[in-house]
Amino acid sequence: MRGALGGPRVLLRRLREVMAEPVSAQERLDKIVVLIAANMVAEVCSVYVLRVDATLELYATEGLNRDAVHRTVMGSDEGLVGLVASQANPINLSNAQAHPAFSYRPETGEEIYHSFLGVPILRAGNTLGVLVVQNRARRTYSEEEVEALQTTAMVLAEMIASGELSALAPPGAEPAARRSVHFKGTALSDGIALGHVVLHEPRVVVTNFIADDVPKELEHLRGAVETLRSSLDELLEHGDVVEGGEHRDVLEAYRMFAYDRGWVHKLEEAVMTGLTAEAAVERVQSDTRARMLRQTDPFLRERLHDLDDLANRLMRQLTGRDHAPSRENLPENAILVARSMGPAALLDYDRKRLRGLVLEEGGPHSHVTIVARALGIPAVGGIENAAGIADPGDAVIVDGSTGDLHIRPLPDMEAAYAERVKLRARRQQQYSALRDKPCVTKDGEEVTLMINAGLSVDLPHIADTGAAGIGLFRTELQFMVAPNFPRTSEQYALYRAVLDAAGDKPVTFRTLDIGGDKLLPYMRNVEEENPALGWRAIRLGLDRPGLLRTQLRALLRAAGSRALKIMFPMISTVQEFDQAKDLVERELTHLRRHGHKLPAAVEIGSMVEVPALLYQLDELLERVDFLSVGSNDLVQFLYAVDRGNPRVSNRFDSLSAPVLRALKDIADKAHAHHKPATVCGELASQPIGALALVAIGYRSLSLTPSAIGPVKAMLLDLDCRKIAAFLCPLIEQTKRGVAIREQLEKFAADNGLQL
Ligand code: PEP
Ligand code: MG
Repeated sequence: MRGALGGPRVLLRRLREVMAEPVSAQERLDKIVVLIAANMVAEVCSVYVLRVDATLELYATEGLNRDAVHRTVMGSDEGLVGLVASQANPINLSNAQAHPAFSYRPETGEEIYHSFLGVPILRAGNTLGVLVVQNRARRTYSEEEVEALQTTAMVLAEMIASGELSALAPPGAEPAARRSVHFKGTALSDGIALGHVVLHEPRVVVTNFIADDVPKELEHLRGAVETLRSSLDELLEHGDVVEGGEHRDVLEAYRMFAYDRGWVHKLEEAVMTGLTAEAAVERVQSDTRARMLRQTDPFLRERLHDLDDLANRLMRQLTGRDHAPSRENLPENAILVARSMGPAALLDYDRKRLRGLVLEEGGPHSHVTIVARALGIPAVGGIENAAGIADPGDAVIVDGSTGDLHIRPLPDMEAAYAERVKLRARRQQQYSALRDKPCVTKDGEEVTLMINAGLSVDLPHIADTGAAGIGLFRTELQFMVAPNFPRTSEQYALYRAVLDAAGDKPVTFRTLDIGGDKLLPYMRNVEEENPALGWRAIRLGLDRPGLLRTQLRALLRAAGSRALKIMFPMISTVQEFDQAKDLVERELTHLRRHGHKLPAAVEIGSMVEVPALLYQLDELLERVDFLSVGSNDLVQFLYAVDRGNPRVSNRFDSLSAPVLRALKDIADKAHAHHKPATVCGELASQPIGALALVAIGYRSLSLTPSAIGPVKAMLLDLDCRKIAAFLCPLIEQTKRGVAIREQLEKFAADNGLQL
């Protein structure tokens, strides 16, 4: 068997020279294939580029018929080349023609070549093309040769990704590397944004691929791996893992990979072929991504994220650069693309320049979503590999009303969206015109619309929307976005500012709702199998009364002599409510004893989020001043479906008979007890949800601020009695297959209501 001439390092050095020559893209490719063929002692070397139409086009060849260049175009699942592309894995055969996938193209004249080695041209795990060498003689290429060809493919990947080949192709047949991509994700936060990609955790950009001195490069790599390992050991053994905001499990997984001999061996091998250490990390990670992205097992996909993070840490170690985007110096019209993100991280970005948010993970009820909504940033989620496909600076459109995402959109798509943005702006103007109109239905029913809030950025929304007050103030948001535990004085200051901003309008403060998916990065979180069902919200408050009492004191003092409304989250039994209420009484006694001003009135309510409360409504209603229905959690527990897990969160419809029956029972019982009941879950923020809620008897809703306009516009046109007569019998029907959502849509269409 013949070996590579001068080895891969010589080839890489020669490639570097060719890359620097001032020649056309085609000439450069032609030279590259000649170089590779000569270096690998192959009779044929060809480059196939994946096109936007999902075909593979021959872009350059040494050895095959030159006339076939740009003429041979194959389906991406056709032949051995197609197989390499679709599997994103090398194929190494001594007798290619015997392979069932072999397909013969007469124009290329390749029938005389028996051995075949094809490797995918990969970048961030995405296939951009295929690089092939062939020989007449039947031979199997050595592992070193496969490795060398993969390394070479990496250099080609950069060339294709740079876009310099696009000029060679007619429209519709350009290389797919920069193709326009459309994704259908989950709509998280309403609105449309056009802008440019900023990666929240940017891939470290490798600028220097080819090593000058391989032994030195190996040393550099080993040193960085060593530092990485010891920093992980240090973090796990001595550091306060919780303080770093990272979960111990994740760090354990990182450490396991960092010590994995296979991983380190692959990195070393890549350096031995002549790559710089950072290019070697990128190559190995790109191969791993390509393989893992084809897996459907969620466990393996999760491990891919761990490996990505680890590779990024190692890259940062190697390049000595921190590639986090500058939070203050965002480009204009920035669209943030992240795998996942916490609410505090989102708040770190300059709101004025941030136009949109794209998350690979993150469901409609996750907290970063709630913050995105509070800030009015359009967001989509559930977009797999978005951060791998989008490059910094790429044009992008986020449609937070439908969940659509367009990366590198075509000009007509951009124009269509620009038009929609204008249309929405006009509609927004119409909503503002309704701002000061009382919210009364056509048949005279008054509906109170309030906003949900939690941060000081929300406060101007009371005035902009003309809302009747704050129906849910999520006090935990202040805790979630703070770097450490907010002091009593800070809590007091926020609550006062909220009451000041609200003026005469009522504010319902909800006491701390932490635990479950609402973790405080600085608080040692208890490991729980089932955090959503665990030690959270009022349970934590009652077990650690110091925390709850501090908050209650801050609230009571902030109220001064004004009226105050307090409610407790996740109440499961009336006894819990009694205990919580007792803490308020004790705080009032304390204030009285110390001569402080007391609020004019203190109303105390309970959230209804736990299904068990449905069977204690009479007892509960005797004790409370009001109820507030948290439909997000109530639906999560009614259906036993994790609200933050995008795989299941959309599986059940909140507008279904079981949910609406439960909600109606609450409304009916509250009515019978003459106690007000508000719905403050996201259901109330969708016009169709609000329509259903009003139909089953609710007259008070608390919404995400941007929903006030659309919900109010719908209610002003609504005949309340008519929708009640339409919906109530429907939800009582036990006949299978009544699609309530569709029925409501039909009602809206027939009655001229905008949903
Ligand atoms: C709810 O559960 O519906 C609710 C309003 O509370 P949160 O979304 O903050 O859990
Ligand atoms: Mg809740």
